Amino acid sequence: MTPATAKETETVSLVNISTEKWPPRHRTYFGSLEVRSPESGETYAITPIRGCTGVMDLGDKRIMEYRITAREIAEDVAREINGDSGEGSFHGVFVAAGPEPTEAELADARQRLEEFQRRLVAAADLEWERTKNPMFITDLERRAARQLGLEKPWLYDPKPLADCPVCAEKIKPGVAVCRSCGAILDREKAAQYGLVVPGRKERAKIPEPQNETAKP
Ligand SMILES: [Zn+2]
Repeated sequence: MTPATAKETETVSLVNISTEKWPPRHRTYFGSLEVRSPESGETYAITPIRGCTGVMDLGDKRIMEYRITAREIAEDVAREINGDSGEGSFHGVFVAAGPEPTEAELADARQRLEEFQRRLVAAADLEWERTKNPMFITDLERRAARQLGLEKPWLYDPKPLADCPVCAEKIKPGVAVCRSCGAILDREKAAQYGLVVPGRKERAKIPEPQNETAKP
């Protein structure tokens, strides 16, 4: 099928209350469409959607025009984005009845988004209880917890383990001392917990006395 052409008509408002960025949507009748996300300070963003006349190539130089209203296109895009994460998923995109969303429409969308996010967090809690493995927590679940302002033990991305430069044993990120060989990996942090004497430079200038005669 050859690419269809489209022409502009009336507009409806596709509203998005989530700051998440989605990849552009593609349809033969409009090409590529980027759904806007609210900038900082905005509570929602509007992407105007136009109706299209698609042209279908039937072959043998025959074509068929078909009409798709702005609302049909907007509903289709909203359904695609919202339905991205399984049954009952909602990502904060809806088609406003008028050119601007009403308070009631926005409140309804906020409620649906929060309900979906709470479900994600509940699923992550259950997973964490079972496995205690952050690898099983999805990015979507982490984002939901952050957006709800919840503090969770599974919230942080697992960082890959590094190798100890001394003994090559696997070490957790952020540790001060290698558990395997005792090498100081973070002098400042080790000093904070009283594991080393701080101020390496100072110690270099004033060597520790080797015997009694070295004392002033
Ligand atoms: Zn080590």
